[in-house]
Amino acid sequence: MFVADMHCDTISRILYSQEAEEKKKQNLRKNTFHIDLEKMKQGDYLIQNFAMYINLQKAKNPFEECMKMIDVFYCEMETNSDQIAPAKSYQDIIKNHADGKISGLLTIEEGGVCQGNLAFLRDFYRIGVRMMTLTWNFDNEIGSPNIYWTETGEEILYGQPNLKRGLTPFGIELIREMEQLGMIVDVSHLSDAGFYDVAMYAKKPFVASHSNARAVCRHTRNLTDDMIRKLAECGGVMGINFEPKFLNVSMPDEKIHATIQQVVEQIKYIAFIAGTGCIGLGSDFDGIADHDELLNASFLPKLEDALWKAGFGQEEIEGIFYKNIMRIYKEILK
Ligand SMILES: [Zn+2]
Repeated sequence: MFVADMHCDTISRILYSQEAEEKKKQNLRKNTFHIDLEKMKQGDYLIQNFAMYINLQKAKNPFEECMKMIDVFYCEMETNSDQIAPAKSYQDIIKNHADGKISGLLTIEEGGVCQGNLAFLRDFYRIGVRMMTLTWNFDNEIGSPNIYWTETGEEILYGQPNLKRGLTPFGIELIREMEQLGMIVDVSHLSDAGFYDVAMYAKKPFVASHSNARAVCRHTRNLTDDMIRKLAECGGVMGINFEPKFLNVSMPDEKIHATIQQVVEQIKYIAFIAGTGCIGLGSDFDGIADHDELLNASFLPKLEDALWKAGFGQEEIEGIFYKNIMRIYKEILK
């Protein structure tokens, strides 16, 4: 079964490994991470979204950091052009596949790199960015996230959602410009208030590239039933995230385990709430703790088997694995 995965942090991992000492350097062809070309081939990947993940508090200059990461993305695409090629449109994905290549879609996970300036958004579009996660876990010029931190910088698990601070006036302008350009709006990490602002102002489908259902696992990175229904009504898709703490609630300090069955339970629940048409994959590979059973990209066929066993049909599984998000690529990417 083809795979279209809406989110991974592999490029940032590669960049940081290349900035480290020689023997730790890694690349996309074959590495010790969750995603490399060999594992993607085993997993039957059609397309992988590669997020330029930026931590606003750690990056000295977030814009420069993003530009460095985009260079790593293109260097990897060029070095491995026998197996993978960048895609900027639906037609590119189809052409790459016909040429026997996986597609790589360039995305940004931190709209703060636009620095409140639509000119930079347009520049990012021009260099191939086709999806942007409006916020990561910090406030930016666009809006506010759903995560809280202690004074010492620890994430507060299972806190209250942020219902007050949504999109800023610039954030509203930005999503209009993104839609105009043909860039997909991604609400993963965004506050609940921001989600509802996007649902109100967006004229096209948007995605939650790597978020699960909150009713199944009460982490605020996951979406409520109402948000899932709104997303589905807008024609959007949510990518199922394999991060153990978004699948399974545990006690503090306890090691969280994650099974394929928990991923299936998420999918079953979302299908029950809003149908399978809004479900996609958003593994978050290389940005998450190890899943105990979906160890890396080569393990995706095991999820397909589990969905068959859970009673899903061919069309539903194809939708979840790649067709639902391909519909959005076709509608939005230019
Ligand atoms: Zn993320």
